[in-house]
Amino acid sequence: MLTFQKLASVTHGDVLQFVQQHPVIHLLTDSRKLSQPAGTVFFAVTGKYNDGHNYLAALYKQGVRQFIVEKAQDRRGFDYSKLYPEANLLLVKDSLLALQQLAAWHRAQFKIPVIGITGSNGKTIVKEWLAQLLSPDELVVKSPRSYNSQLGVPLSVWQLNSNHTLGIFEAGISLPGEMEKLQPIIQPTIGIFTNIGTAHDEGFTSRQQKVQEKLKLFKDADVLIYCTDYELLHEQVRKQKIKSFTWSRHQEADITITATTTAGHKTIVVYTYRGEKQRLALPFTDEASVENALHCLAVLLYREVPFAEIQDRLDKLHPVAMRLEMKEAINGCYLIDDTYNNDLAGLAIALDLLANQPQRGKRTIILSDLLESGLSEDALYSQVALLISNRDVDKVIGIGPTISQHQLEFSGIAEFYHNTADFLEQFNPDDFRNELILVKGARVFEFERIVHAFQQKVHGTVLEVNLDALVHNLNFYRSKLAPDTKLMVMVKAFAYGSGSFEVANLLQFHRVDYLAVAYADEGVMLRENGITLPVMVMNPSPDSFAKLRQHNLEPEIYSLELLQQYIKDLPDTTTRHRIHLKLDTGMHRLGFTPEDFDALFPLLQQHPQIQVVSTFTHLAGADEALHNDFSQLQISNFRTMAEEVETRLNYKVIKHVLNSAGIVRFPEHQLDMVRLGIGLYGVEATGSEQEALKPASTLKTTVSQVKTIVKGETVGYSRKGIADEDKTIATIAIGYADGYDRRFSNGAGQVIINGKRCPIIGNVCMDMCMVDVTGLQVKAGDEAIVFGPKLTLTDMATRIGTIPYELLTNVSSRVKRIFFSE
Ligand SMILES: *Cc1c(COP(=O)(O)O)cnc(C)c1O
Repeated sequence: MLTFQKLASVTHGDVLQFVQQHPVIHLLTDSRKLSQPAGTVFFAVTGKYNDGHNYLAALYKQGVRQFIVEKAQDRRGFDYSKLYPEANLLLVKDSLLALQQLAAWHRAQFKIPVIGITGSNGKTIVKEWLAQLLSPDELVVKSPRSYNSQLGVPLSVWQLNSNHTLGIFEAGISLPGEMEKLQPIIQPTIGIFTNIGTAHDEGFTSRQQKVQEKLKLFKDADVLIYCTDYELLHEQVRKQKIKSFTWSRHQEADITITATTTAGHKTIVVYTYRGEKQRLALPFTDEASVENALHCLAVLLYREVPFAEIQDRLDKLHPVAMRLEMKEAINGCYLIDDTYNNDLAGLAIALDLLANQPQRGKRTIILSDLLESGLSEDALYSQVALLISNRDVDKVIGIGPTISQHQLEFSGIAEFYHNTADFLEQFNPDDFRNELILVKGARVFEFERIVHAFQQKVHGTVLEVNLDALVHNLNFYRSKLAPDTKLMVMVKAFAYGSGSFEVANLLQFHRVDYLAVAYADEGVMLRENGITLPVMVMNPSPDSFAKLRQHNLEPEIYSLELLQQYIKDLPDTTTRHRIHLKLDTGMHRLGFTPEDFDALFPLLQQHPQIQVVSTFTHLAGADEALHNDFSQLQISNFRTMAEEVETRLNYKVIKHVLNSAGIVRFPEHQLDMVRLGIGLYGVEATGSEQEALKPASTLKTTVSQVKTIVKGETVGYSRKGIADEDKTIATIAIGYADGYDRRFSNGAGQVIINGKRCPIIGNVCMDMCMVDVTGLQVKAGDEAIVFGPKLTLTDMATRIGTIPYELLTNVSSRVKRIFFSE
């Protein structure tokens, strides 16, 4: 265990106060992201706009007991040790530096290969792709999104644990001196320098200085992988005699690209490696993706992945959506949402993508001032105008004072606004029809507001998942756990309908201990998307055992037959295979009973390569107080049986029994781990603490048409909806094929339109249904909320005699999921 004293020595700090040891699990710098107070160390970082010391009191109140501070007293001169008598306090000169030192120390504990990536563009994509490409062989830990800053890198590296066999981290800098700090944290063994563009030029005296600074990341690396066609980079690498593995289109290199041609949606690359000519098809055509893929190819060749395998893996690459998202928008338009950064190289990449989309009518670009170019304004905007005019753009909308000043540079149709608010004020949706619109702005311009304006009237049905609510709910359950109780989260059934990969990614970032899915394929999907947490598979079929082993997924074994089949399928090696034993204590679904034990344990003993990691049971009625006695009986039976499991195996296993309702109802029986399910998604199954949770999902649709009918007319199939008076009826775009249960027909269901609850009239149809909106102001295009914070799942489920679980998991896969965070 990492003690507080060790923390002090790693960060060269002075212990101001030590009360008792606490686990050091979460490193926190943003008080809003507090998740598990008991294992948290808060670093009070002082930034330009914010001072972490202002949040000590609030965090202390929430249970945080370990603080790294830069001063011993608050602004009023009161000693922190007096204010926070139960807290361990460590005084350092610079909290951010302390965080970095701790991360560097943590990194040094692992002797695994680590790929470090820097460069002006493509870092995140290369990182994500490499993680995909190498995951068949490795358990990869990587930076989340583009966590590549002075703060992001230490938090990324902190995720490293003893399961990982490979790390992939990106590093970005904007000033000299920054890379020296990131280098010991990442300590890459393999380096990748993607390219050099104009991003952050303004922070450096010259492009050459920028390259030199970035190269500092690789001072101890075994090898640097890069493209020698970047001359400045190539020159520096040679000067510094850094050991390299290179590719090039124009000169001698380890990998020489001799031809790239486009064929439909693919790019065919011909290259020579070790004197042999090879051919490769990449599943995209834009230049940036091809460059990124060639970096990945170099890594695969360097790691000696066989040629045949390389093509196979590249075929499965999927685009990384985090930067450039294409979304359906109003009036048949599509948006490319690149409200991420706005420098010249990034603009070129985005324009490339715009140009490469299948023709969808006109092409429009909405562009903010460019920042961080390092060029004079005149030179910059003439370059921008040139780039755009080379790319078949039909209309330019410039937003910002500087781009407006240079409007004469832009030929063709162009309009300019001083700022985002001006544009939005004059925004008329009817001006945009069947266009492909690239929205590209520097962050300060808040172009997300523009994206939102274009999306507001999206027709169709969406399930919006509020990621902040998921984190809130996770924290609520964590606050109920003892510090060393582990947390398994159930992401079966597409994470209860909410999107398994996205939810799992969030959970991985928030460091839950385990995930569980129902089927092998669900687990494989998680692995293919970079989820490295241990995953339990609850319904493994015998024909999936090989797949489980291949992807490091851990089966639940619930019967002797299944165990026998599992054993039959085991490869003849001494590799350890982790399984979970399910015990039946009264649910009578799956699981061993004590009668099975005499056959079970000898079988396990004969196969010592099988390691039982955990044993568990499931409560049949934890959500209802009515069944408390039965639940208690199940728990006590389980304790006895689990004890016997440990005695007979002669080693400790993780024991767990509580689901979401159980965590609330039987906190004294947490044992070693709990299994959180529906609670994460905002439904508190016992009902007693619903107030503390935030509903995470909102199912929404839109009004397609509004009409009036007179008394006596009927609505919908079988003429079930009878107008007992003159009525106004709205047809909404959701039906049973979207997962809107047919039992909501004829008034059983309600939706909220413009803040008012409106009953369903007539039968729910396949793709739509009708709502009584008599007396309300409703028009086509208005939003209808089917369930959400104000129309709860529990309410809606009760109305048709079912449970929230069913409503959530029924939302069909054709309904688009949108994830947002406030
Ligand atoms: C689904 C499931 C859970 C989670 O149940 P919730 O009621 O959603 O919390 C826990 N354990 C097992 C075995 C499950 O199948």
